[in-house]
Amino acid sequence: MSNERLQRSDHEFRAALSPTAIKASSIISNIRSEELKSTWSTSATPSLNPEELFPGMMFNIAKPALESTKLWKIIQKMPKGALLHCHLGAMVDLEKFLQKFFTTLVADEVRWVEFRSAPFTAFTVEKAEKASDDPDVLLGVLNEEIEKFKSSDAGRGFWGARMIWASLRFWPTEKIIQDMSHCIRLKKLYPDLISGYDLVGHEDPGRTLESLTPELLWFQEECKTQAVNIPLFLHAGETVGCGTPTDQNLYTAILLRSRRLGHAFSLYKHPLLIDQCKKQNILVESCPISNEVLRYSASIMSHPLPALISRGVKAALSNDDPALLGQGTSGLSHDFWQAIQGWEDLGIEGLGSLAENSIRWAAFEDESEDEWNLGVEKGYESAGVRAKRMEEWKVEWESFY
Ligand SMILES: [Zn+2]
Repeated sequence: MSNERLQRSDHEFRAALSPTAIKASSIISNIRSEELKSTWSTSATPSLNPEELFPGMMFNIAKPALESTKLWKIIQKMPKGALLHCHLGAMVDLEKFLQKFFTTLVADEVRWVEFRSAPFTAFTVEKAEKASDDPDVLLGVLNEEIEKFKSSDAGRGFWGARMIWASLRFWPTEKIIQDMSHCIRLKKLYPDLISGYDLVGHEDPGRTLESLTPELLWFQEECKTQAVNIPLFLHAGETVGCGTPTDQNLYTAILLRSRRLGHAFSLYKHPLLIDQCKKQNILVESCPISNEVLRYSASIMSHPLPALISRGVKAALSNDDPALLGQGTSGLSHDFWQAIQGWEDLGIEGLGSLAENSIRWAAFEDESEDEWNLGVEKGYESAGVRAKRMEEWKVEWESFY
């Protein structure tokens, strides 16, 4: 058993825990076990029978009960690092939405966010008569609102936000190329805002990454020619299929040197790709509640992330589409809670490792491929913003105990 534990991706993090952290972890683990008996067992509380509460039950039904637990209160206070995978959809009032979004993140102990946005999405801005779908206007507003929030009282402690430009995968080639060109043009205007590129929309019915490879290679060439740095952060393997074209998106994403993989839900079925992810230091952005609500996994207990962690794949937890999926808040506490309550061998220390990963794999600034690889490999010992943020998180993590 202990030999197997050595292969876990959070092994080093666990081995380096301070004595206080070890003590606190065991207290939290006891609270978790206690609540398994007192809250998540209908035999202990027969009055709950009609509602049937049990470990790993459907997230949306469990939500009110989970928010009343002690474990929930602890998870809310935990420093969570960065939210690396979420989508900004169409919104009625962009400025108001963004301020609320950032405020919620800070209250949930999230310090940094990288959101995917398809900038043609219609939105309204203050004083404007009708909804705009001009990406130039959208990016201007995003940039301004991020800065405004960072310098406000509410934004104290917030590290900031960047955007992963997203095209829709089902678009025809011409439209995708046109959108990619917009992305490159706007990267020059807002270099700090745009951190990367992705293709979004349901993977199963959409175009495969293999069919999109000519466009993606064109994009990478064009970025080089125009001297801009826009790395790929691709969704891949958000499917229950085995050997299907969507499942095979994982191969293409890794070959295209995606720096992280969105979901990678089917990665656990691919021993060679698992090794490749470890070798290339690719992080999995895992969104357990999203996967459950969209019915990729039946419950948190059957989610594949523990299989990846135990085989040494690095991962971070994200919430994907919290507005649509029922978490009811843009924070990360629900996904963190589901993971710690659902996966016996994770513990608060396992959650800590996932949070630390989210900072290590965040794109705080533009980095060449070599700088990125060295940065994620060295972590605390790397140069630049990454190490500084990791240190800041570590201080918060220690004081959390
Ligand atoms: Zn997504």
